[in-house]
Amino acid sequence: MSEKITAVKGMNDLLPPESARWEWLESQVRDLMSGYAYQAVRTPIVEPTALFVRGLGEVTDIVEKEMYSFEDRLNGEALTLRPEATAGVVRAVVEHNLLYDGGKRLYYMGPMFRHERPQRGRYRQFHQIGAEALGFPGAEIDAELILLAHALWQRLGLQHVRLELNSLGQPAERAQHRAALIAYFENHIEQLDEDARRRLHANPLRILDTKNPSMQTLVEGAPQLLQFLGPESLAHFQQVQAILQANGVEFRLNPRLVRGMDYYNLTVFEFVTDQLGSQGTICGGGRYDYLIEQVGGKPAPAVGWALGVERVLELLKEQGVAGPVLTPDVYAIVPDALSLPLVMSTLEQLRRCGLRVQMHSPAGVAVPGQGMGSMKSQFKKADASGARHALIFGADEMLRGEVTIKSLRDGEGAQHSVALASVAEWAQRLQSSL
Ligand code: ATP
Ligand code: MG
Repeated sequence: MSEKITAVKGMNDLLPPESARWEWLESQVRDLMSGYAYQAVRTPIVEPTALFVRGLGEVTDIVEKEMYSFEDRLNGEALTLRPEATAGVVRAVVEHNLLYDGGKRLYYMGPMFRHERPQRGRYRQFHQIGAEALGFPGAEIDAELILLAHALWQRLGLQHVRLELNSLGQPAERAQHRAALIAYFENHIEQLDEDARRRLHANPLRILDTKNPSMQTLVEGAPQLLQFLGPESLAHFQQVQAILQANGVEFRLNPRLVRGMDYYNLTVFEFVTDQLGSQGTICGGGRYDYLIEQVGGKPAPAVGWALGVERVLELLKEQGVAGPVLTPDVYAIVPDALSLPLVMSTLEQLRRCGLRVQMHSPAGVAVPGQGMGSMKSQFKKADASGARHALIFGADEMLRGEVTIKSLRDGEGAQHSVALASVAEWAQRLQSSL
């Protein structure tokens, strides 16, 4: 035998039954998004490296050390597996001039790639669902997006998720804050770790995001950006809060919340939980009014968020939310392969009525005139499938033009016969009782 090939470290296969939970989450999201009039977009997984370097900022964790970047051997292009999707969505919106007739509300789902140390809630291929509203400057859209995420938690039955809010103001306000921040950190240079020293002049705001425990007190005492906000930025922030309050959405102001990308301004937010260890952020977002321009588009405001699918599902599991169990409604037991053509056309009828139908299949080749496995083993499989009913296509019944229906869940194995000609009516009755 050849040597086994295994998956790339930090990149996971998604298999049943877990895949059913993913599809359930995705369908909940699709349904919810349509309720807010957000439309789906799908952008490529590979983008020009320059998009992320320019869009996310050179001195960010992602661009400095997490990107899967490579040169296309065939034409020398510098490419990157997308570490997030906002930059790609913005590129697409600009490239296709989507904002020509006003703002757009969009959402996406898909894999992202970051070369990080794999651990619980942190993978090298992971999945995000994101919502972006482009072309709208108002605080009400920031609030709408937060309400949308909040509604998703409610719909999924997710609990113990806190909302943290901050405002990063506008570039001029940030410049003033930045100067104050540099002065403050310079005064305490001996307390800065290597990372922070390197970022002191390149990106001091990022220092506030440090996870180094020995720098926490220092960072807590740093000048806060909120104190540098002018009246317009403050009014924007207050309007977001007023709308959330009117909707009963609780939040905590967190002046240290800066987010991992450089493209944010004004509102930023995160939904966090204490139940996932140190990977506690399940969703993050904010306003990015200057990114479109940076990527070469006509200046236009925008705001959005992204959630980590693995973390949301892990948290649901942690909280005992079971999600759907996808079992068949009907398991078809086929004593003789000879009857397969008629059996299979009957099963097609049941499926057209909306029933989930699993047919018994033997491990070997089904030869007409021979059995498809002993009745005992077929019934065992039927039970294990979780189906509520077994349909038994016995030779005698079929000669009479009938099929036997046996209840596997309720009624202690009650069984009765139905004419093959009226099996669709039975299926419809069952379907409407589900
Ligand atoms: P963290 O601080 O945990 O590294 P982040 O700020 O890098 O998160 P974002 O870039 O804001 O994360 O991505 C949005 C969401 O995507 C995160 O809140 C998280 O739920 C999820 N996420 C980010 N990186 C990973 C990863 N490597 N594996 C799994 N999920 C991730
Ligand atoms: Mg990160």
